[in-house]
Amino acid sequence: MAFREVNAKSLLRKHKKVESWFLTRYGMNLYRGCAHNCVYCDGRSEKYQVDGEFGREVTVKINAIDLLRRELDPHRRRTPLKPGFIGLGGGVGDSYQPIEKKYKLSRRALQLVYDFDFPVHILTKSTLVERDLDLIKKIHEKKRAIVSFSFSSTNDDISRIFEPGVPSPTERLETIRLFKREGIFCGMFLMPVIPFITDKTGIIDETIKNARDAGVDFVVFGGMTLKEGRQKNYFYKTLDKYYPVLIAEYHHIYKKYPYGNAIDSYYESIHKTFNIVANKYHLPKRIPPKVYGDMLDENDKVVVILEQIDYLLKLQGRKSPYGFAAYSISQVQQPLSTMKDKLRQIKGVGPATEKIILDILNTGTSSYYEKLLTG
Ligand code: SF4
Repeated sequence: MAFREVNAKSLLRKHKKVESWFLTRYGMNLYRGCAHNCVYCDGRSEKYQVDGEFGREVTVKINAIDLLRRELDPHRRRTPLKPGFIGLGGGVGDSYQPIEKKYKLSRRALQLVYDFDFPVHILTKSTLVERDLDLIKKIHEKKRAIVSFSFSSTNDDISRIFEPGVPSPTERLETIRLFKREGIFCGMFLMPVIPFITDKTGIIDETIKNARDAGVDFVVFGGMTLKEGRQKNYFYKTLDKYYPVLIAEYHHIYKKYPYGNAIDSYYESIHKTFNIVANKYHLPKRIPPKVYGDMLDENDKVVVILEQIDYLLKLQGRKSPYGFAAYSISQVQQPLSTMKDKLRQIKGVGPATEKIILDILNTGTSSYYEKLLTG
């Protein structure tokens, strides 16, 4: 494994609005490239411009902690940051990959998150996060900490092929148990499921049952993308070695679409399966309000809930107007509670959406949404 130290120009990425999958307003990548070397990783794609050979070379942002201190410190900013979850994780490099043992950038970043009073959502595939349990507990007691783990399934044999540098799913589940015993919110990001391998009903069922038994607070699901170029070529080499009979089926669902997505009918079918299984185990299919309820202001909460409703309806194969309404509301500066009688003037807000918004403003959640969340 080769490492390269670089000085980054900035660290925190600010999202235009709180995003409803991870609940984060800010994100950061401390490393670029990932020794975990998951075969399906889209960080490998040319699109992300990660230098060097992915999986064998990792770039370390050696000045990350100084940058983060400057970016979080309200006295050193013209306008202080809005409150919101900081995401520690990243599509182009796991924050708890092995090099973290040496540089401790994630631990030092968490210390700053604690010092400057932010909540955090960590997403990793590594059990190394256990090292920082003490600090994560302190953040959770002061603000909020969510620790999520990504899985393509909980099958150790399949993981060994597609996630060669990562602790096994069994070990990850043990780490979830540990964090849950300590009172930390934990989630499973079941993404990506691998077509025709971990997307089968039996495997999804077993995985979600294992997640439920480990005590997760939610399971978030997603299918795989395969972008043309390095990502697809690398994936196909492994597929050819272990599952050559599946190549034709992959050609059928991955048609060289620009974002590497598969055909709609494929995603529809795995979403349907996921919906049925998650409902069977009564697990929330997105991060539920008990995790974020008191951490978001009212406008952000309305946007997150409407976006989640939009997703949950689509998961059932239904159409939804709520995504558009959520977008319009994200542009509103005024607190929604001060304009309860004018909600219908917001683009995309009809009677049904108005009712949901009023429910959220009056009770902190929406009964319609809560029902959809767990089926
Ligand atoms: S852990 Fe995440 S970032 Fe690292 S290789 Fe796997 S999918 Fe990519």
